[in-house]
Amino acid sequence: MNITKSCMSCGGVVFNIISKAGSYELVCADCGVMAGEVGLDKYVTVMGNCSKCSNSKFKVRINKGEEEESWTPECLECRAEPVYKYVNNELEEIDEKSRENLILKDRLAEMAERIKELEDRLPKV
Ligand SMILES: [Zn+2]
Ligand SMILES: [Zn+2]
Repeated sequence: MNITKSCMSCGGVVFNIISKAGSYELVCADCGVMAGEVGLDKYVTVMGNCSKCSNSKFKVRINKGEEEESWTPECLECRAEPVYKYVNNELEEIDEKSRENLILKDRLAEMAERIKELEDRLPKV
């Protein structure tokens, strides 16, 4: 099933995209209510401007699958999909290699955290 997303608050169907590292938010262009946050892969985001016409207003198609629904923003003017980019936590564009390094660093930090937890649980001698 293919439907167009509308704002829960005012029924508007035009949204702005707020880019975040690893997700993006859809904000109603009419009333400013946040319609939802969409999770992406780590350090991936969606640009808030159309790649072709740099328009910042999008319609959102909802594809309802068996288990989950997916949202696809498309430019209100030219129907192009927005661009997905690799970004760091400051939302600066990065290349694939830097992205891999950031993910690796996160894993190392997680591991260090886990080791520390284990150490804390060991009896003190
Ligand atoms: Zn609204
Ligand atoms: Zn466009």
